[in-house]
Order: sequence, then C-alpha cells, then structure tokens
Amino acid sequence: MKRIAIFPGSFDPFTIGHESIVRRSINFFDEIIIAIGLNTNKPGFFSIDTRVKWIEKVFENEPKVRVDHYSKLTVDYCKDVNANYILRGLRTSSDFEYERSIAQVNKQMHPEIETVFLLTLPEHTPVTSSIVRDIIRHGGDASEFLPNGICIDDIEFQNN
Ligand code: ADP
Repeated sequence: MKRIAIFPGSFDPFTIGHESIVRRSINFFDEIIIAIGLNTNKPGFFSIDTRVKWIEKVFENEPKVRVDHYSKLTVDYCKDVNANYILRGLRTSSDFEYERSIAQVNKQMHPEIETVFLLTLPEHTPVTSSIVRDIIRHGGDASEFLPNGICIDDIEFQNN
C-alpha cells in the first residue's frame, strides 16, 4: 500500500520550521500532501492562493510533495486522498498536549490513520507562524525564518 501522509496546518505563513519537518520526513512516505486547513470564520493573513503558491515554490523540485487545501475534518480529508498518516511537528510541551488530544481523538474515530510526530530542530523551536506574520505585518525582515526562495516582496497580502 502506498504510504501517503498529509501535513495539515494553517501555514499562515509557511516557515523554515514547517519546511524542515517535510524535508526530514520525505523518505518515510511515498507522497506528502501539505494540506492547508481552511476556517471560514478566520480567513487568515495570507490568502489561500498565496499560501498554496508559496509552498508549491518551496517544493517545486520535490515530486513527492504536493499542496492542497480543505475545509472539513482532517480525518475525512485523509479518506478523500487515501492518506494513512497525519504528520505533525512538535516544538514544546504545550504543542505536545494540544497534539496529543487531537491525535488520540482522531485515532479513536479512525484507527487506521496514524499520526506521526517529528520533534523540531532546536534552532526552529521559537519559530511560529504568528511571530513571523507579525514581523512581516510591521515591515520587519523575516527572511531568515522563511524557506529559501521565498521573497516577501513578491507576496500579495490579503489583509494588510
Ligand atoms: P496549526 O494551526 O494546525 O497549528 P501550523 O501551521 O501552525 O498549523 O502548524 C502546522 C504543523 O507544523 C503543526 O504540527 C505544528 O506543530 C508544526 N510546526 C509549526 N511550527 C513549527 C516549527 N517551527 N518547527 C516544527 N514544527 C512546527
């Protein structure tokens, strides 16, 4: 059976922390779908289109990775795309507590889907989308927290 993982998240924006989790997991899976979860009540700072294009550019040379978005339960989305793994990154103990309950509830609802966690690299522990977003919003230089090849000047903002 093909090992298909989804890496779900808001990715608002996609950072070096996210990129590292995907690159480090590439050999574990046949396909990784980076899946942007949409919340109609929270449109986000960057538009979906921008987020999709941004992540596609990061992985343009990686045939095992594709980008998608969804607005349903993550486990239901897994079924749609035949994914049997949910990939998540862990930075801190509060990430762990939050992720633990979601993963355990998902497991109870859909035992065939496994959640796989990777610990962040130490240097990525403080990198969060919300901090990076704030730097960008206030005109600071966030480039060291963004994947190579992402130029913030080329990005279209949705809610600035
Ligand atoms: P969510 O809104 O679902 O938390 P995020 O876009 O913030 O979405 O994060 C998606 C996934 O990436 C989560 O598993 C999160 O823990 C992980 N992640 C976020 N930032 C980092 C980082 N700096 N290093 C490793 N994993 C990270």
